[in-house]
Amino acid sequence: MRREGTNSQSVEMTDVLCDYCHTAWTLDRPMIEGHQGACICGSCLRIAYCSVKLSAQNDAAAGEPSKCVMCLEERTDACFRSPAFSDALICERCIVMAAKALARDPESNWTLPTDEAST
Ligand SMILES: [Zn+2]
Ligand SMILES: [Zn+2]
Repeated sequence: MRREGTNSQSVEMTDVLCDYCHTAWTLDRPMIEGHQGACICGSCLRIAYCSVKLSAQNDAAAGEPSKCVMCLEERTDACFRSPAFSDALICERCIVMAAKALARDPESNWTLPTDEAST
């Protein structure tokens, strides 16, 4: 998301906030952008990946499709819900895509979480 009052003609790094923890983008905090300026930072993505992919958690409300903030689709696959901002959901597909993109970027310094790291 963009910080309130951001000048859309000149968006600074500090204007870009993670939708899941509302922390600003910095050089040591990589961000992955979804649709409509939605973003997830490396640390939220790590938590989401560990929760959904490694621990098979699903924060979606039972029986209801959940709207993913990143792809803006109503998804029925497993979702991670931000503990701080309850309308910030990310679907498993977006978690996997974002994790692969970050892991591939050598500048992000981000590696795919493994089972050992989560325990
Ligand atoms: Zn975050
Ligand atoms: Zn999604």
